[in-house]
Amino acid sequence: MSASHHTEVVLCPNAECKTPIRLSVGKFDGGYNDKGGVVIECSNCHLKFPCWLKNPNDASCVSKNGTVVATWTDEFPDSFEEKYGINKSQLDNLNINLVFGYEEPPATQWSPSIQTFFTNGHENFEFTAKYALDNLQKTIKDNYNTYGHHYVKRTYGVEKSFVIIEYQVNRKSYKATFAKRIKSENDLTIDNLYLIDHSSTDIAHQIDGIYTRNQLLVYLERLMNRWRYTAKEILLVVPFIGFFYKNAEEALYELWNWMEMNVDAEKTRLITRKATFNLFKQAQDSTGIPFDTLVELGLLEPMVENLTSKDAEFYQKSHAKYYVGVYDNYVEVLAGSFNIHGGSYFENMIFKRYEKEFFKERYLHMFKNFEYNDDDADETVHFMTFGVDNPENLITSLSEISLKQSSFEI
Ligand SMILES: [Zn+2]
Repeated sequence: MSASHHTEVVLCPNAECKTPIRLSVGKFDGGYNDKGGVVIECSNCHLKFPCWLKNPNDASCVSKNGTVVATWTDEFPDSFEEKYGINKSQLDNLNINLVFGYEEPPATQWSPSIQTFFTNGHENFEFTAKYALDNLQKTIKDNYNTYGHHYVKRTYGVEKSFVIIEYQVNRKSYKATFAKRIKSENDLTIDNLYLIDHSSTDIAHQIDGIYTRNQLLVYLERLMNRWRYTAKEILLVVPFIGFFYKNAEEALYELWNWMEMNVDAEKTRLITRKATFNLFKQAQDSTGIPFDTLVELGLLEPMVENLTSKDAEFYQKSHAKYYVGVYDNYVEVLAGSFNIHGGSYFENMIFKRYEKEFFKERYLHMFKNFEYNDDDADETVHFMTFGVDNPENLITSLSEISLKQSSFEI
């Protein structure tokens, strides 16, 4: 059953903290909705407090600045008083704001493109991989159901799921890797799987030439999703996003929305001009939720929020444009004349892989004291494989999956 979501913000009741904690509230359309709530731990001051939340066990979650310690449905359990030092009367004094009109951008839908990204010669692997995926729909669905039993019990919490399919075309074997985000149990479905890697392809060969801006938006979308699931951090160095002429605001808003849908805002650094950022603020104001309201309520994604801090750096005297996925030992880079614009103008672009130190020396010296994110914590992810062997449905670390190499073998 599908659920629709809206965003609410509850302020941490600790008068000295008041951190805005973001709730994603899900409602089943035309179905039964559980009344209830959650015990939230504020991630700033660590105070635990109860908060109303519909469907606390499935459709809803705390999405920013807090974690869920416990949930209840129907009556508030008396045992929580002893367990968490909280009581029902605290619910009366909560400051909860419904944030009108603000919707989280929907997950990106992947579909094969004729602007082939994963290819080798005339073979468009986006279509063959899609065919292989469709053939396995039922098994994948069953696997997610099996895994769902563990997930519900919160035995394993993961944020990413990978589906790795080995398949054959004309007796040649290929490996396609799809990925998706898991934010709640409702995401344990075949929907929104994104093709992020394919064997026997050579991206560097494919992206080397001139392309229309619309074509390049597809390539950048492919890479941003690939990096979302496998890279340690992402740098978007782009002086212009959208255009400055009048009546272009809608297109501009669409482009920012497109970016939000396709980047992992938690690990992306956006490096742009101040005027570009101001244009975004204007476009946001025109949606009816002023930019400043988003700031006050803590609704901005970190990628944009970082630009509002006092010491945010803007690059006025740079025309360089490049997009970078940073891995443990190398970086993947899309570089050329392309700003984030749509349209039929041609731009030149190359895709290359560099050693990190060399790349830092040649491309990142204009940034004050630039350091790569050196967090080497590995991430636990869910994956399932299909192919010659029996299907597997497992939890492992991201580095174990080692997707990183296969697009480079030829
Ligand atoms: Zn707090």
